[in-house]
Amino acid sequence: MKAVYLFGTTITDGSGDDVNILGGKGANLAEMSRIKLPVPPGLTISTDVCNYFLKNKSYPKNLLNDVNNAIKKIEENKNQYFGDDQNPLLLSVRSGARISMPGMMETVLNIGLTEKTIPGLIKKTNNEKFVYDSYRRLLMMYSDVVMEKSKRKEVKGDDGIRYRLESKLDKYKSKNQIKMDSDLSVYDLKKIITLFKKTIEDTLGESFPDHCEKQLWGAIDAVFNSWNGKRAKQYRKIENIPGSWGTAVNVQSMVFGNLDKSSGTGVAFTRNPSNGYNDLYGEWLDNAQGEDVVAGIRTPKPINIHSKSNKTKNSETLEDVFPNIYKKLIQIKKKLESHYTEMQDIEFTIENGKLWMLQTRSGKRTGEAALKIVTDMLNEKLINEKTCLMRITEKNIDEIMHPKVNPELEKEKHAVATGLPASPGGAIGKIVFTANDAELWNSNGHKVLLVRHETSPEDVQGMHVSQGIITAKGGMTSHAALVARGWGKPCVVGCSELHIDLIHKTLTIGNKKYKEGDWFTINSSSGNIYDEKLSLIKSNFFDNSSFLKIMKLSNKYRKLIVRTNAETSSDVKLARKLGAEGIGLCRTEHMFFDKQRIRSVQKMILSDSTETRSESIMELLPYQQKDFYNILKNMSPYPVTIRLLDPPLHEFLPSQKNEAVISDLSKEMGISKTKIINRIIELFEINPMLGHRGCRLGITFPEITIMQTTAIFEATIKLIKNGYTPFPEIMIPLVGTHNEFLHQKLLIEDVAKNIKKKYDCDFDYLIGTMIELPRACITADKISENADFFSFGTNDLTQTTFGYSRDDIGTFLPDYMDNKILEYDPFQSIDINGVGELVKIGVEKGRTTNNKLKIGICGEHGGDPKSIKFFNSIGLNYVSCSPFRVPIAILAAAKSEL
Ligand code: PEP
Ligand code: MG
Repeated sequence: MKAVYLFGTTITDGSGDDVNILGGKGANLAEMSRIKLPVPPGLTISTDVCNYFLKNKSYPKNLLNDVNNAIKKIEENKNQYFGDDQNPLLLSVRSGARISMPGMMETVLNIGLTEKTIPGLIKKTNNEKFVYDSYRRLLMMYSDVVMEKSKRKEVKGDDGIRYRLESKLDKYKSKNQIKMDSDLSVYDLKKIITLFKKTIEDTLGESFPDHCEKQLWGAIDAVFNSWNGKRAKQYRKIENIPGSWGTAVNVQSMVFGNLDKSSGTGVAFTRNPSNGYNDLYGEWLDNAQGEDVVAGIRTPKPINIHSKSNKTKNSETLEDVFPNIYKKLIQIKKKLESHYTEMQDIEFTIENGKLWMLQTRSGKRTGEAALKIVTDMLNEKLINEKTCLMRITEKNIDEIMHPKVNPELEKEKHAVATGLPASPGGAIGKIVFTANDAELWNSNGHKVLLVRHETSPEDVQGMHVSQGIITAKGGMTSHAALVARGWGKPCVVGCSELHIDLIHKTLTIGNKKYKEGDWFTINSSSGNIYDEKLSLIKSNFFDNSSFLKIMKLSNKYRKLIVRTNAETSSDVKLARKLGAEGIGLCRTEHMFFDKQRIRSVQKMILSDSTETRSESIMELLPYQQKDFYNILKNMSPYPVTIRLLDPPLHEFLPSQKNEAVISDLSKEMGISKTKIINRIIELFEINPMLGHRGCRLGITFPEITIMQTTAIFEATIKLIKNGYTPFPEIMIPLVGTHNEFLHQKLLIEDVAKNIKKKYDCDFDYLIGTMIELPRACITADKISENADFFSFGTNDLTQTTFGYSRDDIGTFLPDYMDNKILEYDPFQSIDINGVGELVKIGVEKGRTTNNKLKIGICGEHGGDPKSIKFFNSIGLNYVSCSPFRVPIAILAAAKSEL
């Protein structure tokens, strides 16, 4: 195997394609060399050597020879010699894995400074201070990285060698009233060096090696060993990086930003990483080495006017101080971007007026910047439409659609608890613990965050007036998550660290207690909860031309239709504006949240005779007719799938202890309170999710189906008469046998016939079913004989396939993920091998007996890009998701095709 690869201005062995062997940093150094950028020459030792070394505790036999030969080439190129007493070459040793692991592994600079080489370098540079400054940095880095960490010497607390040396330096500075490291004189530096050497010997029991070869190989060993260091292992576990990748080692000739006043160092992005503007953006320091820019000891200066902040508005820029270097950097920016066709994050050093490039890699950016950069690059013809779309992620779109917690502030804060990120964005408010209190505080002008164990339909008004919602229980398809996501309202669920005391209106997290009215902030994109008031950044995505362009392009490429799950006029209008072509799920139970309507539903459920039940149901007819009229109108001519009533009945009932509501109901219905309480007890179900819900309701109470269908058809007729083209699709929920479906279908057809006759008006409609039980998938061929469409309810299908309660998964999911029993939450992203296989069976069987069958999906997976890719691949006609997810689904549908 080839173990050593040269790079630099004269010879370059590797290229940017060799990331697996050379690591990201090594491959990019080779690539920059190939395109003739000024890269200090060096060599990369491959990742294969890392694996060999970690396995055998020794190097392949030719490695020493190969490295020595490569160094000879570097010496010729630089005309400097490693270990030479007149003209010494100094080297840096850096790690570099396939993907960047920031701060995880090690770097040693200035290797090659010894008692022998120091005088020569002083003579050559005529700069004693620079040489001793470089030497004290080498002592610090080497003793820390090579002599201590790499040998796994146990370091307790802050007692490590680096800490000890830094304390010595601080003590020396304060004793001699020296403020900055750069103010240290040669005399001071010499004193400090003696102090450092003694401390190293006393602490680590060995002296710093005064031999350049020993220093070099010590550093190489240390970098390879750092791949298996504790920090790197933990990082790999979190980021799912295989241990078998190994790291490469880059040994590079040093260039010195700390040589003199015409030297410096900096980092920059080739475009602004916050807003995407096409301006070089970065910071630099004169007379400094790279670590000074990131260490925070000196405040870095802006590179140009575009990089100035409030703090640095009066600082001199690189453009002011080194105009020629700046011009060169701008040329390099252009060259790098046209070569990589991607925004780059670069590191550079200026040594005595000459610019050197030390690193380039693709730069991290915000969602807003990501959209602007790809659309600008498309206009500049740097990339094509396909690349433009493929580079945008769901996270980028999510980020621009919601207000978010100010990331600068968030960086400085510590989350007091973390839950599941159920609905993206950020919110700030005073905490309250009941929906009624949310309404009360809101009416008094307060912004509130509603904190609940879990939510139910009774909480909806309170949820609506809250800025955001936090629940201690529940998963990604729990009531709170579904409702909040539908509204685009921030929501964190399943946060088991919260202990709510409803009697005293307090919240305890760990050993801290909070009371009603305390300020909290949630970042519901990450699930983080803060016990203070941070600030938010607004979103205005409808004015964002890059966003609109991405949507237009996505529409050009996608085949899958994207519908929305919505039941209010405002959501329907928003979803259409966002690009939805139809409603895939209108949950009619969500239309009964209004106080007055809930009362009619409660009366309906509590009635013990068909007659009184019909009366209460008919109270709902005018409301429903008005609702359906508006929804069908706002979505016409696109189809609207209206699902008949689905939820467990008890969700609508007051608690037995809710005296006020029970006494109201007793008066209105003319029956005793005891009778009402008894009925509530009768209706109690041990397992309501598998109880009296879905089509089971319409079968035992056909009046419900008849009322809802009547409302839909009457609205349809009214719309036709008013010149609209409504397109209703009636959907029967939770069907497990084809007889259930047929029972409901006959009722619906009967209503249609009667209404057509009554109003003497014809209209089209479809009747289909949710497929959300495993049995429905297996018997899909039978059901589809009579169905016009299927819509997969993957929330319930996931619940019933795994047997995990969708409302309680939050209690064990974290343990399942930690133990790698589940790789991800199956309620968020479809379980392709299990639930997905059932969907596939349902699609195939459904189409064998009915080749016109229209098939979609309306579970929460309809807005998840990975799931959308799967649904696209098995031939679904549409996906349906909450309005705010429509753009994400549109993009994902296009990317699935590309
Ligand atoms: C489903 O089960 O996937 C579905 C869309 O219905 P709901 O979430 O209302 O049960
Ligand atoms: Mg369902």
